[in-house]
Amino acid sequence: MVMADIIQFNNLKTYFKTSVTKPYKFRIEQLKKLRQSILNHEEDLYNALNTDLKKSKEETWVTETGMVLSELNAAIKHLKYWMEPERVGTNLLNLPSSSKIIPEPLGVVLIIGPWNYPFQLLINPLIGAIAAGNCVVLKPSEFAPATAAVMKKIIEENFVADYILFVEGDGATVVPAMLNNFTFDHIFYTGSTVVGKLIYKMAAENLTPVTLELGGKSPCVVEEDANIKIAAKRIAITKYSNCGQMCVAPDYVLVHESKKDELVAALKKSIVSFFSEDAANNYNYGKIINTKQFDRIVGYLQQGTILHGGKTNRDLLFIEPTMVDNISLEDSIMKDEIFGPILPILSYKTKEEALAIIEKNKNPLAFYVFTSSNKNENFWVDNIAFGGGCVNNASWHLTNHNLPFGGRGFSGMGSYHGKSSFDTFTHKKAVMKTPTWFDPSIKYPPFKGKLKLFKWVIR
Ligand code: NAD
Repeated sequence: MVMADIIQFNNLKTYFKTSVTKPYKFRIEQLKKLRQSILNHEEDLYNALNTDLKKSKEETWVTETGMVLSELNAAIKHLKYWMEPERVGTNLLNLPSSSKIIPEPLGVVLIIGPWNYPFQLLINPLIGAIAAGNCVVLKPSEFAPATAAVMKKIIEENFVADYILFVEGDGATVVPAMLNNFTFDHIFYTGSTVVGKLIYKMAAENLTPVTLELGGKSPCVVEEDANIKIAAKRIAITKYSNCGQMCVAPDYVLVHESKKDELVAALKKSIVSFFSEDAANNYNYGKIINTKQFDRIVGYLQQGTILHGGKTNRDLLFIEPTMVDNISLEDSIMKDEIFGPILPILSYKTKEEALAIIEKNKNPLAFYVFTSSNKNENFWVDNIAFGGGCVNNASWHLTNHNLPFGGRGFSGMGSYHGKSSFDTFTHKKAVMKTPTWFDPSIKYPPFKGKLKLFKWVIR
């Protein structure tokens, strides 16, 4: 990181201190500007996401631009209300004081994004940061360069660099250089657990708070009483969308042994109906981001036996939607996050057996259960410590901005979307105001003999 960049970071700090970013009028104007600019660049974004990940326009709308615009619309609609100080009650000890919570911006925040949903995962947190009144440094992934180029345009056309600064480059070099030379007020990181740990360590040096949106293995349980046809459709569309390069994709399926054959047959039918027999040339099917990821994912095809799919083409970065069977829990496919279009199908006899398998990879980011009974639903939801999830669905919970989205433990900390994004980038300043017309002597020494009274007031 060169001296010039550090000076630029300091400019953001100076800009923040002018308080220009704090009023409602400023924040709402920036959000509207961002919305308009995304709409103006709609075609550029379609092209960029097609170049980086072979996403169709429709997929791009549902999982990237449309999702961001929906977050923007919610923020624009509710911002005034979110910004209002909240009056809260005051306890007996402090009466007749009054108390309130003032939502205040954090300062200069850093947002680091991954490559799999390169637009949505950088811009959605930005919406929260703008809404909360912060200055922002944005660091996109270097592995989705076409999308990064459009985002850079959007940011630089609309916002001065003292307010929102777009910093590109190799994460392993740029991010440590930034964190070693500048103290951010918050770091919002989306990416792998391995890098998340590095970010957490670097942030600890300056006690910088972090939000970590990480990955891991998200299990999908299919109970004996599940609607198998629906389960297969919903699992297949989520697992193979973006070629499985989705943090909340069902990583593996755990199906009750009595339903395994039926589920496998239904999954095959869904895969062919969504992506045809020739997925490589199918409009609805994407590609792997790069050869490094391709080689990593193809390596898993050596494990177990292929139930469906398995064709690959390195030149096209194509891996067919694939299901595998006879996987051992010791295979690396059951230890790593797959993050690709390979779905291990495991079966279980008892819930305890299935729980033990899930427990091997603690704190999934997402968890899915397909069942038609409340008893089963409650059992699974109560017994797994997951970030968020669905019953009879997969991944769609994250498109509802009324639900906080985030992991726990190994899958991350903190959450965002909707009001949670605003809260993530806001400090809740607690203020109590005490009038001077009432100043009882009981509060001051001598204290001897006042214990009974204290016990009555403080309880
Ligand atoms: P990654 O960790 O390789 O990179 C993410 C970001 O970190 C990039 O901007 C990169 O430049 C930067 N980076 C890379 N190495 C770094 C280092 N040594 N120090 C500092 N920064 C560094 O992740 P990825 O491959 O882009 O994304 C895949 C992972 O992200 C998967 O594990 C997936 O589950 C997870 N993910 C999580 C979410 C979520 O919302 N929880 C969403 C998408 C992806």
